[in-house]
Amino acid sequence: RCGTVAIVGRPNVGKSTLLNRILGQKLAITSHKAQTTRHSILGVKTRAEGQILFVDTPGIHRRGESALNRYLNRTARAALADTDLILFVVEALRWTEEDEQALAAVARAGVECIAVVNKVDRVEDKEALLPFLQTLGERHAFRELFPVSAARGSQVEALEQAVLAAL
Ligand code: GDP
Ligand code: MG
Repeated sequence: RCGTVAIVGRPNVGKSTLLNRILGQKLAITSHKAQTTRHSILGVKTRAEGQILFVDTPGIHRRGESALNRYLNRTARAALADTDLILFVVEALRWTEEDEQALAAVARAGVECIAVVNKVDRVEDKEALLPFLQTLGERHAFRELFPVSAARGSQVEALEQAVLAAL
């Protein structure tokens, strides 16, 4: 199996941290500041089962605020158009207008998509995740919903298996 996987989501949800975790190395720059990534960052993961090209897209931002935002949006959309699978990353228990915009771009791309609910290590009451997952599942026909912690690595291996299965 092989294919291209775009990692998409609003700034700060943990896209770069997830890519670094999957690759087992610090390739993408992670930061608490938004817009750290101006260009898409590519990473190849080679496994016995196949090879996956990951594309860490710059955040999809609100429309038209600046030339830079417009440029970032174009770059992100171009990456989406030519991909086999999208990992749509959100933060556990947090849904914002920017997530809405990013999901709209995913829907426009018309590509199969797995929702990654990141930063679950921060959620003390795990039961609170269930209604969040349910609501997210109603927003889009995701192939799967995956609660993970990119920072700690929990459920990331299972996510990789799901990605391979989808390619
Ligand atoms: P990006 O803008 O989507 O690429 O987000 P980054 O990967 O740069 O991460 C943004 C911030 O969230 C950084 O401070 C990360 O350390 C933090 N972060 C990322 N993943 C996790 C996680 O699983 N748990 C927690 N608690 N923090 C995380
Ligand atoms: Mg990033």
